Amino acid sequence: MTDADPVERLLATARGEPIDDPFRVTGVMMQYYHVCKRELWFESRNLEIDRDNPTVVRGTRVDDTAYSDKRENLHLGMIALDLLDDGRVVEVKPSSTLTEPAEMQLSYYLWYLDRVADVQRDGVLAHPRERKREPVELTPERTAEVEESIRGIHGVVSRSSPPPAEEKPFCDSCAYYDFCWC
Ligand code: SF4
Repeated sequence: MTDADPVERLLATARGEPIDDPFRVTGVMMQYYHVCKRELWFESRNLEIDRDNPTVVRGTRVDDTAYSDKRENLHLGMIALDLLDDGRVVEVKPSSTLTEPAEMQLSYYLWYLDRVADVQRDGVLAHPRERKREPVELTPERTAEVEESIRGIHGVVSRSSPPPAEEKPFCDSCAYYDFCWC
């Protein structure tokens, strides 16, 4: 199944079908793909990350205290998500500065729930510090974006070396800064 579409490989893996070449995408991988493909490659190789580094605060750390009385954590195969008591999937981010990666991460959760568990849900992206909430729905356009991103992620993590560094406004707060610019 190695030449199979990565989306089909991911779905077969998620459904527990016996395949020789399982392919997994986590929510963080989806987010990193839209933040920096080089960062995704490093993450895929399990390179150590300093958990106090600002990059974690920048985009990957969920605020564990926000909505804690109203949300429930759900592990489903390769993803872990939070459900509000009204059934919506919530993704909590410390700031709205990197909205697209967060939207894609949440869209991926909605897509995964739909395709793997046949559960249709809406999502909400929450930025508690800014008192902002943004609804996210799995539209046909988002579905296509998620599936293209899964193929893109497969392309990045299959590389034998990382994509070249491309300077971004947030590089100086990235855990992998030294790998790129020193
Ligand atoms: S320092 Fe910049 S280019 Fe390097 S991995 Fe981090 S975000 Fe990407």
